[in-house]
Amino acid sequence: MKLKSRLDFKSIRFRLWVNFLAVSIGILVIVWFLQSFLLNRYYETMKIDQVNDVSTLITHTYINNADNLTREIASLSMESDLYVMMESQGTLLLFTPEQDTVMPVYKYRSELPKLRRLISESDKNVVSYKFSVSYEQYETLAFCKLIPNSDDTPTFLYIFAPLYPVQSTVTILKEQLLNVTIIALIIAFLFALVLSTRISKPLAAITKDAKKMGEGDYTVTFDDRTPYSEINRLSRTLNKAVVEMGRADNIQKDLIANVSHDLKTPLTLIRSYAEMIRDLSGDNPKKREEHLSVILKETDRMTKLVTDMSELSKMQNRKIELNLSDFDLSEAVAEILSTYRILEENEGYHFIFNAPKKTFVTADEARIKQVISNLLGNAVKYCGNNREITVNILKKGHFYRVEVIDHGKGIPEDFLPHIWDRYYRVSDNYGRSDSGSGLGLSIVKQILTLHNAEFGVISKVNEGSTFYFELEAHR
Ligand code: ADP
Repeated sequence: MKLKSRLDFKSIRFRLWVNFLAVSIGILVIVWFLQSFLLNRYYETMKIDQVNDVSTLITHTYINNADNLTREIASLSMESDLYVMMESQGTLLLFTPEQDTVMPVYKYRSELPKLRRLISESDKNVVSYKFSVSYEQYETLAFCKLIPNSDDTPTFLYIFAPLYPVQSTVTILKEQLLNVTIIALIIAFLFALVLSTRISKPLAAITKDAKKMGEGDYTVTFDDRTPYSEINRLSRTLNKAVVEMGRADNIQKDLIANVSHDLKTPLTLIRSYAEMIRDLSGDNPKKREEHLSVILKETDRMTKLVTDMSELSKMQNRKIELNLSDFDLSEAVAEILSTYRILEENEGYHFIFNAPKKTFVTADEARIKQVISNLLGNAVKYCGNNREITVNILKKGHFYRVEVIDHGKGIPEDFLPHIWDRYYRVSDNYGRSDSGSGLGLSIVKQILTLHNAEFGVISKVNEGSTFYFELEAHR
């Protein structure tokens, strides 16, 4: 395992390390190139410029101030490390930067005929080239300038510039550079290793935690305080995911418990009432009728539960298409309210309905009716002793806002975000405990989400709840 991770060529650690090394080596190669190749050329250009400048100065002095000539040339030769010769009417003047005059004369004089020939062949009055003396390591720049005289006997100015200093400099630099390179590479190697390990370490930690999470441990927390903001962001996202997954896991566990409980209660009732009919009330029409109606009620409840469940799972898998049409919202509300009139008459409920005249929207009528019905059903279930329930339709810009208001016990703030979850019921509910499936609001949520509608709840404990949703007004 360890060996494998060390040899993982695709790991961030390895890649980072290789790239860092590559960049370091690249920079060193460029430095080498500049030092060994361009320095030489740079030195040469500099020397050529220097020779040109010196030749211009000498020409100038020769023409204007011939008295100073020898002193001037001698000092220029010394300063610039140049060998200067001047040939006029068969006389050769020689200036060297060193004391020794024999060597340069011997070394460079043999080049003079060539320079004279080149200048006579060229149409310019200046020629130059590089040559090397066989026993020397370095090259020398040979330069010749023709200075015209009034008496038709030209003067030749020769300048020889040995290019040796750069060779030795480069050699020294190269040696130094070699040391620098070795040290730099070692530092780069170690630094890259440390850096890549430091970056990959938090990632490895995340992988380890994510593995635990994958195995069902939802108590893991991902470290979001590393020095790297990207990794911290990833950790924060994963922390949220782990909370969500933990909740989903709980809901799933609850779901099984709830479904079995929800099915078991009506089934037990059906069974006991069926037994009662068989054993006791079979001959008593009144009792039988009573018992049969319980069986039918429980069957209806089970049917509703199963329908709700399948409806919800269809909606959650996005398997349903909305059947859009234009319809009047207030008509829809009025229609549903009319089914509750019986509660008004028998159980003392009071329904108040406020709406503008025409409230046309484009939506899936049947499903929006289901939303209204579920919200009203909840208001009836959870309104407690204050049996006044209000439905408002308000125009809000381009939208109609439907509000279902009750004055029951309300929902504690902590529970508010969860009431839309499947099978969620506020614990210790004040309503009839077995009257709901815990699916009503999640169906509402799914339908309204499919409509891209705004929806929510405002609730205060002991004051009541206002459930609302908004649909765009039909234009
Ligand atoms: P149920 O079938 O249990 O009513 P719902 O999904 O419709 O399921 O509602 C989820 C939970 O939200 C309910 O169990 C209840 O605790 C709470 N709830 C919904 N509507 C109201 C309301 N108008 N007043 C107080 N609590 C409510």
